[in-house]
Amino acid sequence: MLNQLNKPIAPDYIRAIAPYQGGKPISELAREMGLNEAEIVKLASNENPLGISPKAQMAIDDAIADIARYPDGNSFALRTAVSQKFGVASNQIVFGNGSNDILELAARAYLQADDEAIYSQHAFAVYPLVTQAVGAKGVVIPAKDYGHDLDGFLKAITPKTKLIFIANPNNPTGTLLKKDALRAFIHAVPRHVLIMLDEAYDEYLNVESKSEAIGWLAEFDHLIISRTFSKAYGLAGLRVGFGLMHASVADMLNRVRQPFNVNSIAQAAAIASLVDEDFVARSYAANQAGMAQITQGLQQLGLSYIPSQANFVSFSVKNAAEVNKKLLQNGVIVRPIANYEMPDYLRVSIGLFSENARFLEVLEQIVKT
Ligand SMILES: *Cc1c(COP(=O)(O)O)cnc(C)c1O
Repeated sequence: MLNQLNKPIAPDYIRAIAPYQGGKPISELAREMGLNEAEIVKLASNENPLGISPKAQMAIDDAIADIARYPDGNSFALRTAVSQKFGVASNQIVFGNGSNDILELAARAYLQADDEAIYSQHAFAVYPLVTQAVGAKGVVIPAKDYGHDLDGFLKAITPKTKLIFIANPNNPTGTLLKKDALRAFIHAVPRHVLIMLDEAYDEYLNVESKSEAIGWLAEFDHLIISRTFSKAYGLAGLRVGFGLMHASVADMLNRVRQPFNVNSIAQAAAIASLVDEDFVARSYAANQAGMAQITQGLQQLGLSYIPSQANFVSFSVKNAAEVNKKLLQNGVIVRPIANYEMPDYLRVSIGLFSENARFLEVLEQIVKT
């Protein structure tokens, strides 16, 4: 049947979605500014500046030979590898086209129109997207010191609440919740509410801070832990992540999952990446050094920043939009985060020593003039 406008009309809740704004691709900036791609420094998407594990590279080269075949829709070999590494049963794992897919599968499986999902102010932009896409209502809890106010979350739970998103560490603020506070929170959340604990940056945490939430799964049926190969493992372009959860929850997510959502090259690369602990250790060490380099540089420029536990740091500048424009003109891509209600901040990802130095050098020219 035709409507009055005589064209297809998406529902209001879809039309209300503000599209995701990713980091500007290098090729796009090169086109816009007439720059050479090689002289552009991209520190905008929390990618691994070391690239990928050499073992993953070899696995990718091998897997290319088989791309005429459909991938294994159950990711059997990767499932076995994740099951062994993390000590969870095979039926507790759901694989995703990036961990974004896990967030979306949870929303599609557990949220319907008029339900509520809770997330924090300044939290990852994908939470509102997947909530709105199913016509549910997003409930935003004002941040506390740029982090999650867990007491505020508890107070906001209603009979309509079905899903809670928590990023730990959070993006774009880099804040980390204490383990005992997080555990007490999960314990206090009613069991009809599913908690999505997004641990995309766990590999960047020091030994004492690393999550222990996987060990809590035996106790909490209403917990999903999402992990990704996009950050420390460096496979952002391949799109692969996973969720760990109670088998009955995994069963629901798998019902709405595309049968072949993780491609064969991504599966092979992920398996090889998991065993290359040396690469992850090198990525961690490079991030520690780069974080020190960038935060010291920001301090020397008199700029304040939010101490971060991840592979990026958000700093404040006068006239962030203008500073961002000038960084771009000089071939440096960082991330403006006005859409995270942080209009005075820019987020910079930790890069190689030379990239960080270039960023600081250009930033100094901008703020000193
Ligand atoms: C980068 C990021 C992810 C990972 O996304 P993928 O889809 O796995 O690439 C998930 N959550 C947060 C908070 C992130 O910053």
